[in-house]
Amino acid sequence: MRSPDNPAARRLARVRAGLAERQLDGLLVSHIPNLRYLTGFSGSSGWLLLDGERAILITDGRYETQAQQELPDDAGFELLVLHDKVLAGLADKAAHEFAGRRLGLEANHVAVDQWQRLRDDDGAVDWRSISGLVEEVRAQKDEGEIELVRKAAETAAAALADTLPLVQPGTREVDIAAELEYRMRRHGAEGAAFETIVASGERSALPHAATSECPIQEGDLLLIDFGARWRGYCSDLTRTFVVGQADARQREVYDLVLAAHEAACSALRVGALGSEVDAQARRSFEAAGLEERFPHSTGHGLGLEVHEGPRLGRHSEERLRPGTVVTVEPGLYFPGWGGIRIEDDLLVTAEGATALVMLEKGWLRSLPL
Ligand code: ZN
Ligand code: ZN
Repeated sequence: MRSPDNPAARRLARVRAGLAERQLDGLLVSHIPNLRYLTGFSGSSGWLLLDGERAILITDGRYETQAQQELPDDAGFELLVLHDKVLAGLADKAAHEFAGRRLGLEANHVAVDQWQRLRDDDGAVDWRSISGLVEEVRAQKDEGEIELVRKAAETAAAALADTLPLVQPGTREVDIAAELEYRMRRHGAEGAAFETIVASGERSALPHAATSECPIQEGDLLLIDFGARWRGYCSDLTRTFVVGQADARQREVYDLVLAAHEAACSALRVGALGSEVDAQARRSFEAAGLEERFPHSTGHGLGLEVHEGPRLGRHSEERLRPGTVVTVEPGLYFPGWGGIRIEDDLLVTAEGATALVMLEKGWLRSLPL
C-alpha cells in the first residue's frame, strides 16, 4: 500500500487533484523535468501517461534498466519499454486503453509533429492542450527537494570559496569558469546547473554575458553567475567583485543593488505576489532614477530547472507558497562601464524567507583576496 510519506504518491495525488479541477481524466507528461519529478526517472527520453488510477512510464530500450531501478516500487507505476517507434507505440497505447477519455497534453512541451502523430488515432482520445499543471505543483517544494537545492547551493558556494584565491589580474574569465565547474564536481555535484557566466570590466554590463578568453584587469568589476546541479536540483548564485580597490562609483552602484536586494528579500513571504516582490527591488532603483538600468526580472523559482515558477517579475500574478524556492537577483548595468548583480537562493516561509546558503555580500569584495 502507498504510505502517506511516499513522495511519488503525494506528487501524483496533487497532479490528479489538478486534473480533476480542470475536468480532465488524465494527462500525458512529456516535459522531462516534470517526468523526473513525478517518477524519479532521470533518463532524457520518456513519457508518463496517467489517469486517476494508473501511471505508465513509457521509454525506450536504452533506459529499461535505469527505469526499473529508479521507479519507486510503492507508488504503483507501470513501465512500458518500446524498442521501436516510441511515439507510435505510445499513441497506440493511449488509443486502446484511454479511448473516450479526456486527456491533457503539455501544450508548451509537445512538438507539432508529435501532436499530429498523437491525434492520428481517429479521435479515440479526446486530447486537450493544457500548460503548467505539473509546474504549478512543482513550485511548492517538499522537504526532500528543499534539501537538494540547499545542497546544490552549498556545493556552488564551496566551489567559489576554493576558486577566489586563484583569481588575480591576468586570470582569464574562462579559467575562472573552468576552475569553478571543476570544483563543483569535486564537491560532489553532477556539474554546473547552467553555463557559468564570468564577465569582467565592460562585459559585466551584459546581463547574460558569454564567458570569454579576456584576462581580467586591475580596477575591473568581475561578475560571476554560477550554480551547481545536485541530484537533479539546481542552484543559481551571483556575486560581483572588483579586481583591486573599488572606486567611488563602483561602491555607490553596489550599495544601490544591495539595497534593492534587501528590499526584495524582505518582501518575500507566503501569500505575496511575484510582482510585489519585483516592485520592491524596482522601487529602490526608481528612487535613484535608474529603473532603465535594470532590464530583467527580480528573480525566478529554482528546482529541477534553473528557471521555473514562480517568476518575480513586473507582471507576475503567481503567489508565493510555503516551500517555494526563488532567486532574488537585482542588478544595474551601464554599457561601457560595467554591471553589478547580487543573486541569492531563498526559501519562502510563513515568517519570511531564509537564504539557502550564506555567501558574503555586505561589501564589494576586492580580489585577490
Ligand atoms: Zn544566475
Ligand atoms: Zn537566476
